[in-house]
Amino acid sequence: MKLLEDLYVYPWLSSQENNANTIFIDGDVPTLIDPGHAHLFSHVVQGAARDGVALEASKLIICTHGHPDHMEAVERFDVDVVKAMSRREYEYLQGEGKDLFMMTGCQLPRSPFGLLLTDGSLVLGRKRLQVFSTPGHSPGSICLYWEDQKVLLSGDTLFYLGVGRTDLPGGDSHTLAESVARLAKLDVEYLVPGHGEVVKGKKTIEKNFQMILREFFSAHST
Ligand SMILES: [Zn+2]
Repeated sequence: MKLLEDLYVYPWLSSQENNANTIFIDGDVPTLIDPGHAHLFSHVVQGAARDGVALEASKLIICTHGHPDHMEAVERFDVDVVKAMSRREYEYLQGEGKDLFMMTGCQLPRSPFGLLLTDGSLVLGRKRLQVFSTPGHSPGSICLYWEDQKVLLSGDTLFYLGVGRTDLPGGDSHTLAESVARLAKLDVEYLVPGHGEVVKGKKTIEKNFQMILREFFSAHST
């Protein structure tokens, strides 16, 4: 589904199985974000074909975090496609982050991650994304903010009417609250979370932030 010029979202709509929403940013550096589970990746392929999007042209794959439902399908891409996640999340996957793969019977991708991200600008040709470390759901979760289009790709940090769970290995509700509070200061017209529906409109998104800070993290409400 085309959301904006050069921005495509492939939401996972089935309630039968868990999987992440996948995002594709076209342009000078075609970038795939959160490819999802390997065995469910065909829904992205089909969606991209409907949109006339050249997924195979992807030069970069970014995982918002290292959970299997977001990153397992990186394995389907050649070694010449650069894979990226945060440096902190990469370290997490060397230790307790592996547990979730073992618990769910998923294969930890063996593809090398050639780009380990930290906070700051990520330049994709003429586009620029801001990388925000947003620990809480996992220690090295990131959100990506495309300031020119006022788009926030929030991974599993926050959703429409909810936040990411913190009961998985390395989760922490206190740091999640701090992460959401930081994101709430951004000017966002399109919130594209890692699961569930895309939220459009600054007012609705502001209300969503306020509700989350009030209902889930009352100590952080303003
Ligand atoms: Zn997750």
